[in-house]
Amino acid sequence: MHEMSLAGGVLKVVEDAAAREHFARVKRLTLAAGALSGVEVRALRFALDAIAPGTCLDGAEIEILEPPAQAWCLPCAASVPIRSRLDACPHCGSHQIQPTSGTDLTVHELIVHDEPLSTAAPARLPQQET
Ligand SMILES: [Zn+2]
Repeated sequence: MHEMSLAGGVLKVVEDAAAREHFARVKRLTLAAGALSGVEVRALRFALDAIAPGTCLDGAEIEILEPPAQAWCLPCAASVPIRSRLDACPHCGSHQIQPTSGTDLTVHELIVHDEPLSTAAPARLPQQET
């Protein structure tokens, strides 16, 4: 259940942002699962759908992008896009490439509902009597 723990991590990131930015609900969440991240996108979507009810992700539109990874090609001395660790350099065909990005699952975009300020009132400290 690798994806279930990833979904829990995503929810934690969003809840931390909710506490910091004072929003209650997420309208749209876009994740980027790098081509080398090993994330099974369908399983992750299923896991997120399973944990969303009752959280700030409840009812959120969730999109999972799968951007290509970047690798450094030694013969070309350039950064090239790859889809898997077994890929050759698309320019010279060399396998002397070193992945440099695309190994992570990241939050790409987070769009929240604009809640009226009154919804934040219960979190405020009561006024002190003077
Ligand atoms: Zn190359």
